[in-house]
Amino acid sequence: MTADSVKLVPTRVQLNRPLPPLTYLAPEGLPVGVRVRVKVRNSLALGLAMGPDPNPPAAKLRPLELVLDPFPLLPPKLLELQAFAARYYGCLEAHLLPLSLPQALLPNWEADEEGQPLSFHRDRGRWDVLQALGEAWHRDPSILPTLLHRSALRRGGPTEVRLTGAPHPPRVTPAQARLLLALEEAGGTLMEADLLEAAGVGTSVLATLEKRGQVQRLKRVDLLAQRREAGTDRTVLLHDEQRVALDSVPLDAFAVHLLQGVTGSGKTEVYLALADRVLAVGKRVLWLVPEIGLTTSLLERLEARFPGRVAVGHAGLNAGEKHGDVARLLFNGADLFVGVRNAVMAPLRDIGLVVVDEEQEGSYKSEEHPRIHARDLAIKRAQLEGCPIVLGSATPSLESWHAAQTGRYRLARLKERPAGSTLPAVELVDLREAYRVARRKVVFAPVLLKALAETLAKGEQSLLLLNRRGYENFWMCRACGKTLGCPHCAISLTYHRGDYRLRCHLCGHETVPPEACPDCGADHLRGVGEGTEQVEEMLRQLHPTARILRLDRDTTRRRGSLEAGLLAAESGEVDILVGTQMLAKGHTFPRLTLVGVINADQGLKVADFRAAERTFQLLTQVAGRAGRAALPGRVILQTYSPDHPAITFALAQDFEGFAASELPFREGLGYPPFTALSLYRAEADTPAEARGALEAFRQRLTVPNLRVLGPLEAPVPRVKDRWRMHLLLKGPRAALSEVLARHPLEPSGSIQVDRDPLNFG
Ligand code: ADP
Ligand code: ZN
Repeated sequence: MTADSVKLVPTRVQLNRPLPPLTYLAPEGLPVGVRVRVKVRNSLALGLAMGPDPNPPAAKLRPLELVLDPFPLLPPKLLELQAFAARYYGCLEAHLLPLSLPQALLPNWEADEEGQPLSFHRDRGRWDVLQALGEAWHRDPSILPTLLHRSALRRGGPTEVRLTGAPHPPRVTPAQARLLLALEEAGGTLMEADLLEAAGVGTSVLATLEKRGQVQRLKRVDLLAQRREAGTDRTVLLHDEQRVALDSVPLDAFAVHLLQGVTGSGKTEVYLALADRVLAVGKRVLWLVPEIGLTTSLLERLEARFPGRVAVGHAGLNAGEKHGDVARLLFNGADLFVGVRNAVMAPLRDIGLVVVDEEQEGSYKSEEHPRIHARDLAIKRAQLEGCPIVLGSATPSLESWHAAQTGRYRLARLKERPAGSTLPAVELVDLREAYRVARRKVVFAPVLLKALAETLAKGEQSLLLLNRRGYENFWMCRACGKTLGCPHCAISLTYHRGDYRLRCHLCGHETVPPEACPDCGADHLRGVGEGTEQVEEMLRQLHPTARILRLDRDTTRRRGSLEAGLLAAESGEVDILVGTQMLAKGHTFPRLTLVGVINADQGLKVADFRAAERTFQLLTQVAGRAGRAALPGRVILQTYSPDHPAITFALAQDFEGFAASELPFREGLGYPPFTALSLYRAEADTPAEARGALEAFRQRLTVPNLRVLGPLEAPVPRVKDRWRMHLLLKGPRAALSEVLARHPLEPSGSIQVDRDPLNFG
């Protein structure tokens, strides 16, 4: 920008902050999507050039400080997707930028093929030269080394610490003991930062133990590098249904395909075969999964099938790892990107196929502003790229199923499991009947007890699902009826016996349980509603020698512990698994032959029009855990409502029947998929303030064709001392978009919008 010949024109710059674009003077022709550094007041900020500003403000404009990239890092179609998402979800593009580009990513550009520094072209505004170089690079990443200094990438990732298994020295210091214990508890391996935090010790303690050979420190550059060894390719011969599904997906046009098939029916093999075809013609694959922690075997399969071409987008993993993989995506041109929700915004180019596995999963929807739905945006992305998208599931969302029934999506189905595995037999236990016989509440019906004992005797595994953690759900005074609630939230406290605390599951508030009722003073406090902790205890009393493992959010708080537990279960080191819905997903336990659901209709009591759908999905999923390998499985569902369609259709494992029975209700009540919803949520220090904000918003609304419900108290009206009110808008999508356009919300105001809400809590 030093050269006088470069003309400066008003240009919009999107900052990585929740603000609309600002206008600066930038070299004419600066490509859209190039990162720039600008001054905002007196500080420096990073932004993206968004093209000339047709209506620049009258004030005197400042020039850019620096152009960081010679050519755009973000592909134009991704910027289009962001613009769409910003309009649709009522947020700024700035809110979406961090999903595509880690802020820390600052590459050092070096030279073009003739050895001319790129800054030479940049400073002279020779954007055409740079653009051509950029295009060449994006086509063929192998020319990269000449363009880019890769030292930043070579520095590698975070460090992992492992126990070496060397014999314990006779004496260790207390700090060393803490470190060794923390490692042992974590199963022998932890990331260095987590270990130091867990043990509360400094690096010198670690260094001493390393010198003595007790522990080993390993650089973890790339998670896949390790998996690469483990994965073995097992190319299968697709069976007829899979072949039909595969051939029903034309690769050269946008269309949404719904692939419905029970767990284990071979959907993943179909995605793999499609990916194979797409990669063969030089296009790329975007592959979304609901949760990365549960997909180790998928990553192995991918890496084995497409060695060196896969990058992974982690959420919740170390920033170093995350950037490492995004960097591979940007600089190395990884051809297949697999990741969770935010991966839908990954800077992948030339996409030829989008896969969304388990498309019905709620984790695709963000529960924080901006509340994007990755599956829905993935569809938009495929449309922009002009490529097919495959949504897969055993129990598709009713939205997707309805779209397939009405011809908007194309449907392919896999009805059989491959030879060698069979669907388990599912039976119901009527808990009302069990209560009549036993004359008291029954946690395990006799049938389930008998089945558990038999399974143990055969040396096979059982899984018990109860979707409620803690020991007792809440405490109540039998004398006055008071329930012990959270002082900050409108819910009751849950008793955790392990650490002797009453705890709020919303805000984390905890207290030592009182001896007597704080209201009436009677010592008649009583726990109500068993949780996983209590069920585990009961099982230990019933089967003292069985190896029992509980997996819920309380036992898996530490990173890696869920994976370690699941691995132990997979390798047969566990007889009885007990836990919450995290057990229902993703894993194959070869010796698991009994699944028991303690209370199948627990989820039906939630005031949410999707309660039946979610219950059906959960029961079908957990039932699918049994008998996936050679051993036949048995599933026992305990229920108080044996006639509810969510239960009866789960019993028959009949998704189609469930959908056919549920959709008319949705239509009658005017719920999705027959209409769209926008939930406006207000939060304030008083209920009146929250209500007032929504009332005022409601008064202002001028868009026709809407039904407006509320303001109403949210189901949990107070969380962390803030009062919450809801206003629900029902109507056609276009009308709801019109509301956003005509009545934009202050980014930091008291009202937030949630389009296509999944969670009404
Ligand atoms: P899904 O994705 O529907 O759960 P997968 O594709 O993971 O199912 O298949 C389940 C198991 O069956 C996997 O181990 C897979 O390798 C195997 N499998 C799938 N299709 C075939 C086939 N045509 N022949 C042999 N094995 C298959
Ligand atoms: Zn609370």
